[in-house]
Amino acid sequence: MTESVDLTPIRDAVRALCADFPGDYWRALDRERAYPDAFVAALTKAGFLAALIPEEYGGSGLTMTAAAAIMEEIQASGCNGAACHAQMYTMGTLLRHGSAEQKARYLPGIARGELRLQAFGVTEPTSGTDTLSLRTTAVRDGDSYVINGQKIWTSRAEHSDLMLLLARTTPREQAQSRTGGLTVFLVDMRAVKGRGLTIRPIRTMMNHATTEVFFENMRVPTDAVIGEEGLGFRYILSGMNAERILIAAECVGDAKWFIQKATAYAGERVVFGRPIGQNQGVQFPIARAYIGMRAAELMVREAAGLYEAGLDCGAEANMAKHLAAEASWAAADMCLQTHGGFGFAEEFDIERKFRETRLYTVAPISTNLVLSYIAEHVLGLPRSY
Ligand SMILES: Cc1cc2nc3c(=O)[nH]c(=O)nc-3n(C[C@H](O)[C@H](O)[C@H](O)COP(=O)(O)OP(=O)(O)OC[C@H]3O[C@@H](n4cnc5c(N)ncnc54)[C@H](O)[C@@H]3O)c2cc1C
Repeated sequence: MTESVDLTPIRDAVRALCADFPGDYWRALDRERAYPDAFVAALTKAGFLAALIPEEYGGSGLTMTAAAAIMEEIQASGCNGAACHAQMYTMGTLLRHGSAEQKARYLPGIARGELRLQAFGVTEPTSGTDTLSLRTTAVRDGDSYVINGQKIWTSRAEHSDLMLLLARTTPREQAQSRTGGLTVFLVDMRAVKGRGLTIRPIRTMMNHATTEVFFENMRVPTDAVIGEEGLGFRYILSGMNAERILIAAECVGDAKWFIQKATAYAGERVVFGRPIGQNQGVQFPIARAYIGMRAAELMVREAAGLYEAGLDCGAEANMAKHLAAEASWAAADMCLQTHGGFGFAEEFDIERKFRETRLYTVAPISTNLVLSYIAEHVLGLPRSY
């Protein structure tokens, strides 16, 4: 299955940009756990982060397939799109459910790179994957809402102006449906930082700029509500399909990077008088990783095609995410093994990419939860939780 539209020019342009950010750039940041400001600025300037913003708001109005290709190429070039991928995947919630006024207020600034929409606050320490049990509350008070609670793993909050936030506006027991009572807010963090909003970085095994975020009587205006009050869970779920497709594309890119590195090394590293890649014990794992990557790539394309046609793509987005995260992790492990001891040396970048790609069988949705989704919603088996 080839792409229905020729995306070669976009892919080439992303590759060319990424060539200015080679391994030593990422290694230096990784050591300091520093944010790749220059890389994100370059992507923004080139318009890639505004790919999904319609042209009428100053974006490039590209498809999900094109956005996925951009993210894939970033990863396949050895860069790390996790620094900025949220702008792409939170966009769907604003585009599909935001008011005309909200879009006019924010999208042109985001497209120009003057405003960053990079933070997505859903996960909480006590609720974990069980989003419906989240505890952050938003209580209406005149023409504002007062928000109290805590989020965890709110990545890039320190490098974002806006945050898409999910909070409970109706107590669970009073909500009209199991999924009702949650509301999405587009929070302008510039207005509330230090005035009800506190952000604390969390150091992780890879350079991910993730944080925990505390809300203490944080006031946001009522016009920060996206769509209708109480329907937030539904909006977030529809946005999550975009997130899964884009992250799956990143994993395909990672897998391509690992496979290319391993193939090159297996061809040139000579042990016992012949290239190690001449041994089936070395070449078969590379071939297996390639097959896994190609299968994942097909599912990403199918999911992206359904998404942009406005069709239900929940199963395909989940399967794409699952196949791609498994493929990138398998390719990472294979690449490390192929390199023997050198795989552990920082200068090869493999150990860094290995740590970075490991995340995706856990976030944004863990493997078990994808399997539960398929078991219940596709196969019709009883809900297990
Ligand atoms: C680096 C990083 C960045 C992140 N960025 C963001 C972000 O920007 N915004 C955001 O909102 N969140 C973010 N997350 C959170 C991420 O989405 C969650 O970590 C993920 O969804 C898993 O939730 P949890 O960590 O609470 O695990 P838990 O829900 O506590 O689950 C722990 C383990 O138990 C398994 N498990 C739980 N329930 C079941 C069940 N019923 N059946 C079978 N297995 C089950 C899970 O699969 C998992 O393996 C990030 C996380 C990390 C680590």
